[in-house]
This record gives sequence, structure tokens and C-alpha cells, in this order.
Amino acid sequence: MKISFHGAARSVTGSRHVVQSGGTRVLLDCGLFQGRRQEADRKNRTLGFEAKSVDAVLLSHAHIDHSGALPALAKQGFSGKVYLTRATGDLADVMLEDSARIQESDCAYVNKKERRRGKACRRPYYDADDVRAITGRFTGVRYDDVFPVRPRLKASFHDAGHILGSAAIRLMATASGSTTTVLFTGDLGRKQMPILRDPAPPPPCDVLIIESTYGDRLHSETEEAAKQKAQDLVAHAVAHRSKIIVPAFAVGRTQDLVMWLKALVKEGRIAPLPIYIDSPMALRATEVFRRHPECYDEQTYRILTSEGDPFMARYIHYVTSVQESQKLNNLSGPCVIIAASGMCEGGRVLHHLKHAISDEANIIAIVGFQAEHTLGRKLVEGWETVPIFGVPTPRRAQVVRFNGLSAHADRDDLLAYVRAIQPTPAKVFVVHGEEKQSCSLAAAIRTEHPRIDVVVPEPGSTHDL
Ligand SMILES: [Zn+2]
Repeated sequence: MKISFHGAARSVTGSRHVVQSGGTRVLLDCGLFQGRRQEADRKNRTLGFEAKSVDAVLLSHAHIDHSGALPALAKQGFSGKVYLTRATGDLADVMLEDSARIQESDCAYVNKKERRRGKACRRPYYDADDVRAITGRFTGVRYDDVFPVRPRLKASFHDAGHILGSAAIRLMATASGSTTTVLFTGDLGRKQMPILRDPAPPPPCDVLIIESTYGDRLHSETEEAAKQKAQDLVAHAVAHRSKIIVPAFAVGRTQDLVMWLKALVKEGRIAPLPIYIDSPMALRATEVFRRHPECYDEQTYRILTSEGDPFMARYIHYVTSVQESQKLNNLSGPCVIIAASGMCEGGRVLHHLKHAISDEANIIAIVGFQAEHTLGRKLVEGWETVPIFGVPTPRRAQVVRFNGLSAHADRDDLLAYVRAIQPTPAKVFVVHGEEKQSCSLAAAIRTEHPRIDVVVPEPGSTHDL
């Protein structure tokens, strides 16, 4: 067996790992790179392997850094099936369509400028036809069912508790009479997150490929501390008529926040101030959440059966049109505006930041991971002037960070996951983290399990097993 790492190796985005056994090649995830534009562009135009040589894809979850290059795979001649949970299939449908649309409009915008300078046209990585070509290959599977991928290759999906439909993927490959089991975590969630069940205990494996987004740190904030912080913020917002701007990914994060804020209102801890979800994508994703109650935890299921729609309330408003979104700019607080993108790299949240950031009454609440070189990271780092649409803009609004709401396992959760695998795997590959995070988690695993061979793979490297 051979495993090669073509993305999310010593970095967090572009998850793509190829497992080769016998004559079969399967791809675990097929994500887009994000980050510095030129570098991401180069990595997104070449997959790193021959698309036609891949027999099947197994997709851990719908986030674009795991699924976003699937249409490019179809465009380059992949003709196999894509195995995923049904909820992931429905979410990926929405997200890939949106990704194609964003690329087309981004390219049109850049090309308008480039043409004036006599430069060559940029092309999107793929278009809506490529998206349809790949979504037509989606094959939905249920959690825990073992299914054949190829004659000597079986697989099963196990709830990862990260976003709706997310899974850790187990591959069982038989060659020359012996079977090797590989477990790929995808992104791991945490216990007691809103909506979702806790991550399922890991099945036994010989080789583990584990994420390490928070490989060197703990989510130190308790649930109670986060609730208290939200309570104080909302009280401040009511007193100062503040806008609370929350950059959040439209899929997963936004729905978590809605559930969390609703619970705080119900507990009487915060006033039911108007909450605007400013994202057509979030509305479509929320519809997918509604269609998949089989993925809910007991508490959310109870809300669904006793109180109706868990994502609605009289003070929650879903904003879709551009005109409605623009009206929010002139709205006076107190209110909460939740908009994408989660790291402030694009999307409607940039317009809200532009209008709100220079007023000291306002609040920017950061609830998710902020990668290097993003505007979100600059806000977290406390920059007093930040670039918005390329214009240096003074920041007077206060920035408040919530550490306790992450959808990713922290260092202790990741170590507990490795510990729970019985018997202990022989080999562990640490992926999906900035280099520092991955190396730190790898060192901790080595200390705890000296017999495990722990590797932080280099991008593009291949490992014989
Ligand atoms: Zn994810």
C-alpha cells in the first residue's frame, strides 16, 4: 500500500490524499487551497496526480477545503464514483454550485481590469457544468455500513461530529492475503456541539491519518464562560445600540450559532435582539440541515419535535437579496449580523465590516479558526488599521474572540481520539494543520505512544506501507 499527500500537508487547506493498494487508487477528499492568491491559484490548477487514474473518491465532509476541487477532478477526466454521506452530498451540492459561481464572477471582475492592461484572461477552475458532472457521481452511504469500493477494497463512514454529515473514513484494503486498515479522520468535531452528535469512537486501524488544526492548543474557554461573554456583549449592545458583526461560514458555523443564540434567549440570558443571517448560501444550507434530522443529536431532535423548526424564531431574519443586505448598512443597533466568509476573505461580511468597523460602539465577534494572512487573523491580532477591499481602514470597533465555540477538536480531544484506538495503530500521519500545530501534535503522540511511527508528511510526498 502507498499513501501520497497532495494537500493539507503542513498546511490547513486543499485536503487531498491518495491511497493506492493492489491496482486500485482512491482519493480521500479533494479540497481547494485557500490563502495567498497566487500560491492558491497554482495549487488549484494542478491536482498533483492524474485524475483519470483515480478509481473512486471518498469525501469526509462538505467544507470547501475538503470538497472544492471535486469538479476539477471531473473536468480532468475522473469517471468513478464519489462516496459520501447523504447529508454531505446535499451540502456539497449547494457549496460547489456556489464555488463555481464565485469563481466565474471573480474571474470576470479580474479580467475586466486585466484586459485594460492587455494581460491574458484568467479562467475559473471549473464551471457549473463540471459541478453537475461530479454531483451526478455522488453515491450516498449510511454511517457505519461497510460497503465495497472495489473488489478488494471496503470502506465505512463514522460520525465525526464536525459539521452535518461529516465522517471519519475507514478503508480496508486486501492485497497478497493480508488486510490493511486505514482510518482518515477528516475534520474532527467536539463533544456537546449544538445540533450534532458527539464524534463516534474510532474503529480499530493499522494506519491513522489525523487532522491537527488545533494540534498545539486547547479550547480553554468553557461553555459557561462563552455564555457569560455573550451575555455581557449583548447587554453592551443594547446599552450602546451596537451592531455585533459575526463573520461565520454559511455552512455549519451559522447554524450552530443560531441554535446557540436561541438557547441563550430561551434561558433568559440575552435579550431577543434582531439577528440577521445575511447569506443566500446560509439559507440554502439551513434547508439542507432541515432535511437531515437523522444527523441531529437528541436535544436538537427534541426541539424539532416539540417546538418545530430549530432554525427559526420571530427575531431571526434570513436575508437573501443584495438590496436587503445593503439596507442593513444603515440599520441602527442593537442587532446581530451573521455573514460569510468566516475568515473575512470575501463575501457580504466585508461590506458590513466596512460600514461598522470605524464606530467604537460596534463589536466584531470572532467565533472560528482564522488562518494566516486572512483579514480575520489581522482582527484577532489587534491590528488598528486593516485593509478592506484594499483600502486601509481604521478599526475602532472592539474585537471579541470566542474560543469555546470551535467546531474542531483541540489537542486534548485529538490525543484522546488516538488513545481510544485499540489496539494502538502502527503508524500515524499528522495532516491538516499549520506546520507548528502538526509537529506539536506529532511530538505529543510520540511521547505518549513511543511504539507508533508518527510522520508529518511533506506536501507531495509518497509513503510505502
Ligand atoms: Zn471542516
